[in-house]
Amino acid sequence: MKAAVFHGGSRPVSIVDVGLREPGPGEVRVAIRAAGLCHSDLSVIDGTIPYPTPVVLGHEGAGVVEAVGPGVQSVKEGDAVVLSTLAHCGRCAACEVGRPTECRNAPNPKDTQPFVLDGRPAYQFANVSAFTERTVVREQSAIPIDPRVPFECAALIGCGIMTGVGAVLNRARVEVGASMAVFGLGGIGLSCVQGGVLAGAAKIIAVDVVPAKLALASRLGATHTIDASRDEPVGAVRDLTQGGADYTFEAVGNLAVIRQALEALGPGGALTIVGVPKLGSSAEFVVQALYQNKAILGCRYGTARPRRDFPMLADLYLGGRLKIDELITRRYPLDEFAGAVADLQRGELARGVFLLS
Ligand SMILES: [Zn+2]
Ligand SMILES: [Zn+2]
Repeated sequence: MKAAVFHGGSRPVSIVDVGLREPGPGEVRVAIRAAGLCHSDLSVIDGTIPYPTPVVLGHEGAGVVEAVGPGVQSVKEGDAVVLSTLAHCGRCAACEVGRPTECRNAPNPKDTQPFVLDGRPAYQFANVSAFTERTVVREQSAIPIDPRVPFECAALIGCGIMTGVGAVLNRARVEVGASMAVFGLGGIGLSCVQGGVLAGAAKIIAVDVVPAKLALASRLGATHTIDASRDEPVGAVRDLTQGGADYTFEAVGNLAVIRQALEALGPGGALTIVGVPKLGSSAEFVVQALYQNKAILGCRYGTARPRRDFPMLADLYLGGRLKIDELITRRYPLDEFAGAVADLQRGELARGVFLLS
């Protein structure tokens, strides 16, 4: 079967034939129907996220369960599932209180090699590997959702939607009437905007440098937009919020933007860092900037509880309250991987989606 494989170094990703082992105990095989291209995939290719190779890329996918290994109970053959990148033990204190993103005993995703390439094992990316016709994942990574959600929309729930909406609802816990600003309007930033709508934020200020993304943010519920290529965004956010926003979200992973998002906070405000800068980066800020009870929050995977959140997001979509179709800029066959990457790098995509099997 076809898969998009990164071989390491500066070699381009190739679409090659790979094998796949049978699901073992507690594992399921999923036929991928759609998979979104996320910046984290590019981060593996450019070395921002170091990963062992060869690796089958992709981590935002949805499909149908084809086979289950011994002992699997929560999904069955034929179920429509969204893939979760989260691995957690289910037994530690964090898991027990419903914080699986803080699991202390999570298996290392860099240990899993369910694929075979040229007779040798190949790695799985982020417990998923979605840029392939089939994958084998742990039972806990195959989350059943309402099958009426189209696969191309379901796929986005597995990363971009969960990460963005979850940052707002689960991590920052934005309340009705709050003001918020979102810096960076890729798939995740646009999902932060929608999280703000769901939370009932009174002011949702969207900041980017691409006019088309600002327009899309408005359609998704942003109440104000700031073109940071024309206007200085910190002052603009402060003006719109009488001295600073209650919540800001950084969805770029850029240190200068993180600083802007911090400076745009008002008293009592909280910055949630959703973007992922290069591994090992450190940010500098004036310590007094946090005076007046300001906070900086880290956020992993939208502080997800996948079995609760994925079906909820699917239901919000089916009820017309969460827009996903609008986030899909373009669809590609897997063979056009290089073109999709180029489109994403040019900033043209909210999300590009590969359609498989
Ligand atoms: Zn992602
Ligand atoms: Zn745990």
